[in-house]
This record gives sequence, C-alpha cells and structure tokens, in this order.
Amino acid sequence: MKQRISDGLAALGLTPPSGAVEALAEYGRLLLEQNQVMNLTAITEPDQVVDLHFLDSAALLGTANFQGKTLIDVGTGAGFPGLPLRLLEPSLRVTLVDSLGKRIHWLEELCTALHVEDTTCLHARAEELSLNRAYRDTFDFATARAVAPLNLLCELCLPYVKPGGYFLSMKSVDCQAELDSAKTAIQHLGGRLLPVYDYTIPGAGITHRVVLVEKIAPTPKGYPRRWAKIQKTPL
Ligand code: SAM
Repeated sequence: MKQRISDGLAALGLTPPSGAVEALAEYGRLLLEQNQVMNLTAITEPDQVVDLHFLDSAALLGTANFQGKTLIDVGTGAGFPGLPLRLLEPSLRVTLVDSLGKRIHWLEELCTALHVEDTTCLHARAEELSLNRAYRDTFDFATARAVAPLNLLCELCLPYVKPGGYFLSMKSVDCQAELDSAKTAIQHLGGRLLPVYDYTIPGAGITHRVVLVEKIAPTPKGYPRRWAKIQKTPL
C-alpha cells in the first residue's frame, strides 16, 4: 500500500508530512481487518482502498489551505474524508461525527492506534448536534461524502460552518441536477455557491467533484429541522 499511497499523493501534488504514508497504510490494514467483522466499507481490495478512500479524501487538500483550521466530517463512516485529511495535515483539528455508535467506537480505537489523540469522535445525529451552541457556526470547514442528496445535506452540514468558512461536499461529476435542487437550501442557510472543483483520482483515473459552499451569514434560527421534516419538505 505504501508505494501506491506515495505515488498517488505525489500525482496529486501533495507532500505528505513525516510518518503520514506509514499511518495511512496502517489505517488501510486495520480497516480491512475490521471490515471482516463489521460493515465499514464495500471496498475490499487494498489498491482500491488507497485510490477510492485515501487519495479521494486527500484530493480535498487542493481546495483550500487547511493549516491550523478546524473541520467537522459529517457522516464520516470509517473516517472519510476527515481522518486522511488529519493524517496529511497534522495541524488540522478534526471532529468525526456519525450516527452509528459502533463505527464511532472503532474510530476512537483507530485514532489511538494511529496516535491522533487530538481528533474527536462523536456519536451523534448531525442535525441534532448543531443545535448545541458549542458546535454551531463554529468550524472553518464541514465535509461530507456519500451521506445524502445535496439539498438535504446542506441542512446537515452548513449549520456547523462559521461565516467565512466552507462546506465541502464530495460528489460525482454528474451532480448538476442535485446542485440545482440545492440552490434554495444553500441561500436559505447562509451559504453562497462557489465554482466546483474537479479532480482525477490517480491510479483509478476517475474524476470526482467537490461542491464548495462559502458560509456568508450565520445559520437562521429553527435550523436544522428534524430529519423527518428535512426529508419530507426539503428547502
Ligand atoms: N463518509 C463516509 C465515506 O464516504 O466512506 C461514509 C459514508 S456512509 C455511505 C454514510 C454514513 O453517514 C454512515 O456511516 C451513516 O451512519 C452516516 N449518517 C447518515 N445520516 C447521518 C446523520 N443524520 N447524522 C450522522 N451520521 C449520519
């Protein structure tokens, strides 16, 4: 795995900090080991773990400067994209959130094994946690990959971002219809759509898209709503 990670990061124009390639390889080993007994990922080939999990996550580093910033990864699952970002940018303070307690428990053990004790793992529903003032309008970045359609996802993620910060939504390149249907939600929740960021994952040769939303005003009162309401009457 190590060689593929190094080559892929170089192809993305990234220079990993000391020990990061080894830490990612160990992450991959532990992920595939735990995946035998817990449903963490549908990807079971080591090369694909590198390409579709690690390099796909790492590509986000091309969208902004993450040094010394805070980031919340909503619906993180097995830690993507938040944990690879922390391993590649050690000054980034990351909070990983998921509604599945078993995954969060495993992530806590993983962070200890990888010596990333400054990463917070939270078992919570995204739309409930941001009602707590400590998490609302606070983070420099919110990220999400494969969690929900963009119009619903905005209500889960934008409330965490402080004005001047960004919500980075990882999507496929054919997400234009999703993007169009999210425009009202973005505006309503204090966001402003920026030009999309496309990148090709080295090795896999697949092109993905990051939808970038800048937060320009605090989250209005009453948002996010309960999940049933978000789904039933999307903004
Ligand atoms: N982001 C990871 C990735 O790209 O590999 C995981 C994607 S997985 C398909 C979606 C994850 O989002 C699951 O782990 C699920 O438990 C979590 N999730 C879905 N809705 C959520 C919510 N409202 N709050 C927190 N987590 C949620």
